Amino acid sequence: MAGMIKAVKGMHDVLPDQSAHWLAFERTFIDLATAYGYKQIRMPLVEQAEVFKRTVGEATDIVEKEMYSFTDRNGDFLCLRPEGTASCVRASIENGLLRQGAQRLWYGGPMFRRERPQAGRYRQFHQFGLETLGMSGPDIDAELIIFTHRLWRALGIEGLELQINSLGTVDSRAGYRERLVAYFESHFDRLDEDSKRRLTTNPLRILDSKNPDMQALIEAAPMLSEYLDDESRQDFEQLMSMLDQAGVAYRVNPRLVRGLDYYQKLVFEWVGGLGAQSTVCAGGRYDGLVAQLGGPSTPAAGFALGVERLLALMAQGENDEARPHACLIVTDPAMMGEGFCFTERLRDVVPGIRVVVNCGGGNLKNQFKKADRSGAAVALVLGQEERQAGEISVKFLREERDQTRVAQDALPGFLSENGII
Ligand code: ATP
Ligand code: MG
Repeated sequence: MAGMIKAVKGMHDVLPDQSAHWLAFERTFIDLATAYGYKQIRMPLVEQAEVFKRTVGEATDIVEKEMYSFTDRNGDFLCLRPEGTASCVRASIENGLLRQGAQRLWYGGPMFRRERPQAGRYRQFHQFGLETLGMSGPDIDAELIIFTHRLWRALGIEGLELQINSLGTVDSRAGYRERLVAYFESHFDRLDEDSKRRLTTNPLRILDSKNPDMQALIEAAPMLSEYLDDESRQDFEQLMSMLDQAGVAYRVNPRLVRGLDYYQKLVFEWVGGLGAQSTVCAGGRYDGLVAQLGGPSTPAAGFALGVERLLALMAQGENDEARPHACLIVTDPAMMGEGFCFTERLRDVVPGIRVVVNCGGGNLKNQFKKADRSGAAVALVLGQEERQAGEISVKFLREERDQTRVAQDALPGFLSENGII
């Protein structure tokens, strides 16, 4: 026998007992996004690496060490997308969406980052997100947050904390940057290697360090909020007032900077899990991003959530949708065609009914065993006698009840009266 081939490290199969939870999440997200007026955009998994270098930032973890990049045979420098926002903006510019007025978009799918795999941190993981293009006010910022707040409720997730901060405009950050560099330079010997390098490339990113040894130094660093420009301050205050009125609780975290370079003004995170993998959803405003990718200057804001981290917080009760209502058994293999004819009629009359047809035959005892294993509530038995009488036998697989026979036409009514469908 040939040796077994395993999945790539940090990349996981989603097996049938889990996929029901994924589908439930996806349906909830899509229904809500649609209800808020967002339309789907689907981007390729592979992009020019330049899309992310220019936007996410050269001095970020993602671009510095996490991208799966490669040179194509014709010399193009490509990568598996590490996130959705830059791709989405690239697609919107390229396809002229920005000329069609403000856009509300949603996307979802796999992202790739070569990180050290651990619980809640994978090399292929999944993000769903909203992106809004062409709206500059704190009202759309509030909508994004209110959406996520409703999403958690719809998913039955409790106990997440919303943290918000304003990074100010790029200009207002310049003054702060100088002050921050001076501070870190005066403590140069306490900086780790990453931070020493970032002191010249992107000092703000030091504040996002996950290194525990750096936390005390970061805690005592000067505050960005003291340098905030008036417009950013006003927008931030209006946002807080709208959140108050919408009943969304939050905590202002002046240390929240986010790991990507393209943010300005609002940034937010929903935090709730464990340790360094505690953030389940992160977003904010990125007014400069469209221009960075060669488009017309356009305000934009959005967020992305990590599906794996979210599912880990969701109650993983049994998902009823995975269970069939009924499993059809035919007593004679020659009757299979008639069996399919029967189940097709049933599907016509009861849209959405979950019926599994037992294929492969076998004796009755075996067939009942398979029906039981399918998780179905009832077995439907079609034999010669039933056929002649225009009936079907119903055996309850989850209750102590006698097997009964009902007229085929009466089956939908019978199943519904007995709480099966
Ligand atoms: P972290 O600080 O945990 O590395 P990040 O700042 O890199 O996260 P973003 O790029 O903002 O994360 O992505 C948004 C969300 O996507 C995160 O809050 C998280 O839920 C999820 N996420 C990011 N990277 C991973 C990963 N490697 N594995 C699983 N989920 C991830
Ligand atoms: Mg990261």
